[in-house]
Amino acid sequence: MRVPRADEDDFAIRESFLHFAGPFAASGVVGEVGRWGDGVLAILLLISPRPRHPNGVTRLTQSLSYPRTDRGRSDPLHYCFFDIDGTLLSSGGAGQAAMEAAYLEIFGVGHPVEGISFAGRTDHAITTDLCEYYGVSFENGARERFVECYLGHLPRALATRDGRVLPGILELLEILESRDDVVLGLLTGNFRRGAEAKLKHFDLHDRFHFGGFGDHHLDRDDVARDAHGEATDHHGDEIPTDRLWVLGDTPADVKCGRAIGANVIAVATGGSTRDELEPSEPDHLFDDFSEFEKVAGLIG
Ligand SMILES: [Mg+2]
Repeated sequence: MRVPRADEDDFAIRESFLHFAGPFAASGVVGEVGRWGDGVLAILLLISPRPRHPNGVTRLTQSLSYPRTDRGRSDPLHYCFFDIDGTLLSSGGAGQAAMEAAYLEIFGVGHPVEGISFAGRTDHAITTDLCEYYGVSFENGARERFVECYLGHLPRALATRDGRVLPGILELLEILESRDDVVLGLLTGNFRRGAEAKLKHFDLHDRFHFGGFGDHHLDRDDVARDAHGEATDHHGDEIPTDRLWVLGDTPADVKCGRAIGANVIAVATGGSTRDELEPSEPDHLFDDFSEFEKVAGLIG
């Protein structure tokens, strides 16, 4: 979900122009249009859909883009990376239920999962372990079939489980969104489309503008590096580490925050208790985010 940074605007302008003008190229109309000047180009940009970026990555949704840039600012923006499960929301176990349903449907295996941790890990790592646990393989296209099956079960599981947005989250996001020096992103072990399904279910999806996801990495630290890379692309240069913030609910969230040099705010609303989080030494630790003004006040 990489988006063009400020100095890539030329790419967007050029691609948008070609998207519209391409069919007329053979007739020489492009050359004439090119001489009409910036006013015409501006009109073309308004009526032409935004192009796919050349790196082949599309945004989480078409509506997502960075709401603000560093251009003209004396201080860089604060980039906040939110974990999903146990931090923003509780799915009520919908993710695991959908995963188990997909294993049953694709592989015919369904005995209860024991001894495999889900919290703080990537979906890629979890499903790799579950394949070993069940004695099945993702070879020959089975991974793709499994992921599609999981994503099919997930909305139904979310609808039937007792999930919720966690305390203080709506207020915290509202405060941070209202500020002109903060950009909100995701740093989650979920498959990208799983993250989208969960956030849409709780009407949180459009609040986030970039992210790292758990589709391909076994190690959450690599997901953090992906998210950091996106933020760096947007910023156009290295972001001072005091402007990076990871918010998560497990020691793995703290660890991946350290991997990118971020400040870490831990919250004991998910996979770990306060006692389990303390040894990982987050910069700040909350029982929950009901003290949302205090949490927001730390950022900045
Ligand atoms: Mg979590």
